[in-house]
Amino acid sequence: MFDLVVRSRRVLTPEGERPAAVAVREGRIAALHPYEALLETAEDVDLRALLLLPGLVDTHVHVNEPGRAHWEGFASATRAAAAGGVTTIVDMPLNSVPPTVTCDALDAKLRAAEGRCHVDTAFWGGAVPGNVEHLRPLHERGVRGFKCFLSPSGVEEFPPLRPDEARRAMAEIAGFGGLLVVHAEDPALLAEPAGPTYREFLESRPGAAERSAVELVIRLAEETGARVHVLHVSSAACLGPLEEARARGVPVTAETCPHYLTLTAEEVPEGDTSFKCCPPIRDEANRDRLWDGLARGVLDCVVSDHSPSTADLKVPDFAAAWGGVASLQLGLSAVWTEASRRGYGPADVARWMSTRPAAIAGIPRKGAVEPGYDADLVAFDPDATALVDARALHHRNPVTPYHGRTLRGAVLTTWLRGRPVDGEPRGTFLLGEK
Ligand SMILES: [Zn+2]
Repeated sequence: MFDLVVRSRRVLTPEGERPAAVAVREGRIAALHPYEALLETAEDVDLRALLLLPGLVDTHVHVNEPGRAHWEGFASATRAAAAGGVTTIVDMPLNSVPPTVTCDALDAKLRAAEGRCHVDTAFWGGAVPGNVEHLRPLHERGVRGFKCFLSPSGVEEFPPLRPDEARRAMAEIAGFGGLLVVHAEDPALLAEPAGPTYREFLESRPGAAERSAVELVIRLAEETGARVHVLHVSSAACLGPLEEARARGVPVTAETCPHYLTLTAEEVPEGDTSFKCCPPIRDEANRDRLWDGLARGVLDCVVSDHSPSTADLKVPDFAAAWGGVASLQLGLSAVWTEASRRGYGPADVARWMSTRPAAIAGIPRKGAVEPGYDADLVAFDPDATALVDARALHHRNPVTPYHGRTLRGAVLTTWLRGRPVDGEPRGTFLLGEK
């Protein structure tokens, strides 16, 4: 007797797409049966030709609570996540106050999140100057790894590491087999924008700054033996160093984001700073090369870097506006729109947005439709289209660069551990191996 059976002609399993009946018991996938199998179950859902995907695992989400809950919060962010087919988020250690750089700060974050999460939630710690002795205790409390910056982060309470401090943090992290996730831009190659336009902002943060920082991180990973993950690669100039490092056996992985894969510098409307993020959205030729890097596996995964703020911080001046793109609810449809146009299939998207990020963040039982895994499932109509209205999204402030765009693909139902996400906050904390 099962609690739930979800049938589809198009179930995305680790072996590819096939017809199946996914049988769920006590929140886990118990078995995959033939599509037409007669099964004893409390509930039986037949999606027919709609896709059944593993719930997305978004390892790059800035929830900002406590401290900047007017920017975002656990309730609104996780509601947006579920509506977008994301069943697990990993919260960034900034821009909450306090940032998650000590166990006390982690406790403050857990208190803020308790009872509010609509999807399962894990946490990154932060590596900042002077907190190296807090890294192991945070690791033991179950954070998934540590984020650091090499250039200013945008908020004072989360300063960057100098190269010697990064080396020290990585040596410490290597000692307990942890992971460092890095915002890679070399401050020596960044400048203040010369003026308020998008062109001037883009020129102030060149691809060479990303490449230089990625090369530093790779060197430090080789010296210290620490595993590293490069966050939000926006410049294709990073692909060469990443590929060479992998070939040498350096333990480095990398992500990119929906906005770098779907938007281009050429189309940013002047003054529309909903498009502003760091590193920046670059030109169309660069975007094509990012797709190529993703297809070849040089880039492992696609995660949102959902980094919202209040609308008033998005002033129409690219030098002064807050940098961050809000897109948690739209990542799947944005990526699917562009991926399907380029000839990729749902299996690629499931790998990039669910299986690989779960593996990189070390989250067990997530990221696959397979017996033993949590029954985090998404019914997805790949052919539906919808016009994005920022005001209709669940994240707190109605700002997104996708406003007014038509995207392909619609999430119809999101199941978290075998139950549809329905307004009751049933998300749990994913700490350690639990
Ligand atoms: Zn971020």
